[in-house]
Amino acid sequence: MAQWIDGAALAQQVRETVKQRVAEMTRQLHRPVYLTAVLVGGTAAGELYAQRQRDACKAVGIEYELITLPHDADKEMVSRRIKQLNEDAAVTGIMLHLPLPEHLNATELQYQINPVKDVEGVNPANIGYVVYGQTLIAPCTALAAIELIKSTGVPIRGAEAVVVGASQIAGRPIALLLSEQMATVTLCHIATRDLAAHTRRAEILVVAVGKPNLITADHVKEGALVIDVGINRITLPDGTKKTVGDVDFAAVEPKAAYITPVPGGVGPMTVAMLLRNTLRSAELLSR
Ligand code: NAD
Repeated sequence: MAQWIDGAALAQQVRETVKQRVAEMTRQLHRPVYLTAVLVGGTAAGELYAQRQRDACKAVGIEYELITLPHDADKEMVSRRIKQLNEDAAVTGIMLHLPLPEHLNATELQYQINPVKDVEGVNPANIGYVVYGQTLIAPCTALAAIELIKSTGVPIRGAEAVVVGASQIAGRPIALLLSEQMATVTLCHIATRDLAAHTRRAEILVVAVGKPNLITADHVKEGALVIDVGINRITLPDGTKKTVGDVDFAAVEPKAAYITPVPGGVGPMTVAMLLRNTLRSAELLSR
């Protein structure tokens, strides 16, 4: 039976360390560590997510400001706001809530966030720094996956690691960080032939696709470490809703050595990494 990797407990440890450092930074800077989030077109889901972020920031002493722009804000308007935030010395971190309304291009706008203030690590420059081994700020979900793997003590160096899902936000950066840590990495995606042939070789298997039960026991090597990044809302036959990952947890748990639950695995750690990155931005700016 696999040991569960308790993302919520590990995230709590990260938050405590961040809280101490934020207090030190606030004293050193004589002003708060300050995260500004930009939300274009305030939906109920977006506002709720922002409220959760505000609570998470407050709990570790980070000031949080939400700027809501109208749904029809054009590229110039959002760019102008990002530019102002880049130049505002009081703002130590910036993030842009996704998804954006369809007429806006996320990458184009993320590119404009000062890489040092880019707390989500989404500016292409920050991805580039990871490639060059000079990481400034890495994407939160990728950092979360790496932290959860490291928490088990299973060596990453030399390990056969397989990442399923190759998105810019999750799979690709995870593969990049694993390769930076000297794993031998295979990156699988929708065009991969015979997925199970790849995943069965994995000592470390990370799945970030968004399809419930994509990974069955047949896909998993005995004793593997399994990180499930997927978050899917499903409706059970009795009509109740449930959040599940991409891994058939009940089937895979007996075979794996370590596994992350969903919820309570990668999700809480990703929020903790956002807080840690926000602290890092403030530290980089203070140098
Ligand atoms: P995406 O849709 O952008 O990318 C999905 C990737 O999966 C693509 O690379 C695609 O090629 C690949 N894929 C699709 N079907 C496949 C198949 N049958 N076999 C192999 N590969 C396949 O999704 P995303 O934004 O990367 O998100 C993936 C999942 O991770 C979602 O469930 C999302 O909610 C979750 N997510 C969780 C966190 C977190 O903090 N826990 C953060 C980001 C995303």
